[in-house]
Amino acid sequence: MITTHPFQTSDDDHFHEECGVFGVFGHKDAAAHAALGLHALQHRGQEAAGIVSCDGVHFHTHRSLGLVGDNFSSEDIIGRLKGSMAIGHNRYSTAGETVLRNVQPIFAEFGFGGLTIGHNGNLTNAFGLRKQLVERGCIFQSTMDTEIIIHLIAVSLYSTVVDRIIDALKQVKGAYSLVAMTENSLIGVRDPMGVRPLVLGRFDNAYILCSETCALDIIGADYIRDIDPGEIVVISEEGLRSIKPFTRQQKRFCIFEYIYFARPDSQVDGRNVYDVRKHIGKELAKESKVEADIVVPVPDSGVPSAIGFADEAGLPFELGIIRNHYVGRTFIEPTDQIRNLGVRLKHNANKGYIEGKRVILVDDSIVRGTTSEKIVAMVRAAGASEVHMRISSPPTRNSCFYGIDTPEQEHLLASRMDVAGMADHISADSLAFITMDGLYRAVGEAARNDASPQYCDACFSGDYPIELTDQNGGSRPAQLSLLTE
Ligand code: AMP
Repeated sequence: MITTHPFQTSDDDHFHEECGVFGVFGHKDAAAHAALGLHALQHRGQEAAGIVSCDGVHFHTHRSLGLVGDNFSSEDIIGRLKGSMAIGHNRYSTAGETVLRNVQPIFAEFGFGGLTIGHNGNLTNAFGLRKQLVERGCIFQSTMDTEIIIHLIAVSLYSTVVDRIIDALKQVKGAYSLVAMTENSLIGVRDPMGVRPLVLGRFDNAYILCSETCALDIIGADYIRDIDPGEIVVISEEGLRSIKPFTRQQKRFCIFEYIYFARPDSQVDGRNVYDVRKHIGKELAKESKVEADIVVPVPDSGVPSAIGFADEAGLPFELGIIRNHYVGRTFIEPTDQIRNLGVRLKHNANKGYIEGKRVILVDDSIVRGTTSEKIVAMVRAAGASEVHMRISSPPTRNSCFYGIDTPEQEHLLASRMDVAGMADHISADSLAFITMDGLYRAVGEAARNDASPQYCDACFSGDYPIELTDQNGGSRPAQLSLLTE
C-alpha cells in the first residue's frame, strides 16, 4: 500500500523522496552535531528525522516521525546516541508510507559488521531490482528504495565493505547522495552525474559530510569542497580516501536546487543560492518587461528573485504579501481540500501596499497552479489595478524522478496548457516564465548547451539524463502489502 500524496495520484507508487543527509566522523559530540546539522537541513524534509551513532562497537539509533527540533532536543535522547561518529537524515517522502519503518538512516547487520545508510535522491530502476532481489530470497523491511542498496551490498561477492558498496551502486540507476557509516568509517557517495548535492567540511579535527553548506555553518564547520560526481570518500582513522570507481560522465547537477529547493544561504556546487536567485530575477526582468508600480514576492521562495527583478526593473520591492510562518509548506498538506485551504492559511495581502497599484508578483515556479491562482485573486481582492505574474523558472512540464517531489505529469499546469492558457487560468493580466537560456545565464553559463546540457533540467526540458527504467519498462511490482506499523 502506498499512501496518497497531494502531488500524486493514489496509484502512483514511485519511491521518490526529498531528503537531507548529514554525517560526522571524529567528534565527541557527534550526535548533537548531527541533530544541529539536520535542523539546518529541515527544509529538505519535514516528515521524519533519524540519527544513528556509533561508538566503535555498537550502533545507537533514534528515528522518529516529525521535525528535528521536536525529536532531538532532549539531552536524554542525544545522550543515548553515543560515539564519535554519527549520520543523520531528514525525510520528506513523496510515496511510501509515512511510518517509522520508512524512516532513515536505514541500518543492517552484515557478515562484515553493521552498516547504516542515509540517502537523498531516487533510484530509477528500483522496481526491477527489488523484484529480482525478492525472487532471490531477500526480505524487505521497508518500502524505501534505499533498502535495495542494502540488499545489493548483502548479496555482493566482494569482501570489503567499500567494494560491496561499489558493486551495489554499479547496479543501481538514479540520483543519489549517500552518507554511510560502519564501525570505523564514514562514507560519502555522489552519483556519477552529481544530481543531488553533497559537501565535505571540517570542524575541529572532525570531518563532516552534508547536503548543503548551511549545515556546516550551524556548527561553525569549515567548507572544504563538494564531493565530486561519481566520487566515494571513505573517512577513517587513517584520514580521507577518495575513490572514483564509475565511468566518468557529464555532470548534471539539478538546476531546481538553485531555483527552489536549497536554502538561500547555502553554497551549492560552488555558487551562493541567494545570489543565483537574484540573478534569475534580473534575467527575468530583462526578458519580460512590463509597466508596473511595485514588485511583490510570493514569500518565501519568491523573495530573492523578486529582489533581483525589482533591482533590474528599477521598481520598488514591497512585501505586499505576508506569510504566516507557523504553517508548513503548502505541499505537505495531506488532502486536496486542505491544500487548497493551505494557501489562504499561509499568505495574506498587505492591503495598504497593494491598493490601486499595478503589481508584479514573482514566484519561483508554477506546479499545479493552485498557489498562483489563489495569490492573484487575493492581490486583486486587495485592490490591485493590474496583476502581472513572473516566474523564476521555465514552465514545469515534466515530473522529476530524481528526488524532487513533483506531481504526475498530467497534474502539472504547464503540461496541460500554453503560457497564454495558464495566464487565463490564474486570471493574471500577464504571465511570463524565465527562458531556459536566461536561467542558464543566471547560473553563470553563456547558454544551455543543448548537445550536452550542463545541468539536469528534465522538469522543464523533458531531457532525462538518467534512464527511467521503472517508468519506461513497466517492471512495477505488485503493491507492497504491509500497511502499517
Ligand atoms: P502550485 O500551487 O502547485 O502551483 O505550487 C507552486 C508553489 O509550490 C510555488 O510557490 C513553489 O514555491 C512551491 N514548489 C515548487 N516546487 C515544489 C516542490 N517540489 N515541493 C514543494 N513545493 C514546491
